[in-house]
Amino acid sequence: MGKKLFILLAMGALALCGYPAIAAGGDSGQKITRSGDLATVNGPDSYFTGEVRVTQLYPANNKMRSSGGKVTFQPGARSNWHTHPVGQVLLVTEGVGRTGEWGKPVQEIRAGDVIVCPAGVKHWHGAAPDSAMTHISICEETEPGKVVEWLEKVSDDQYNQQ
Ligand code: MN
Repeated sequence: MGKKLFILLAMGALALCGYPAIAAGGDSGQKITRSGDLATVNGPDSYFTGEVRVTQLYPANNKMRSSGGKVTFQPGARSNWHTHPVGQVLLVTEGVGRTGEWGKPVQEIRAGDVIVCPAGVKHWHGAAPDSAMTHISICEETEPGKVVEWLEKVSDDQYNQQ
């Protein structure tokens, strides 16, 4: 993989589910990306607290505006506060986690749960204190690669607020 492409992949993955507008197979047929070829990167300290791994699953392209990513949070890890310009769907695939919305009590989320977050709602998501959590994140773009607006860190008090 070329260095430039890898950087673009990593940038997209770091946006939780964003991706620069690189063609993803065009209109000629299905594109199958083998699991071993998916790029996984560490979630950076500037956007996350704790140990987080982000895998880009598929990019948006010129015809399809959604992109998908898989994020695994180790116990206690979580995203910063953030918003999504179009919204976000979270499909919890493993473990137990937490999600918070500004001004509301923290909610527990578990494998099999589906969370739909409207555009512009300030929120965070992450693992429970004693369990890892993995979710698939699906977002749509308003402009190429733009699926999240990052805000401040989630404090321990906010993470533990019930
Ligand atoms: Mn989100």
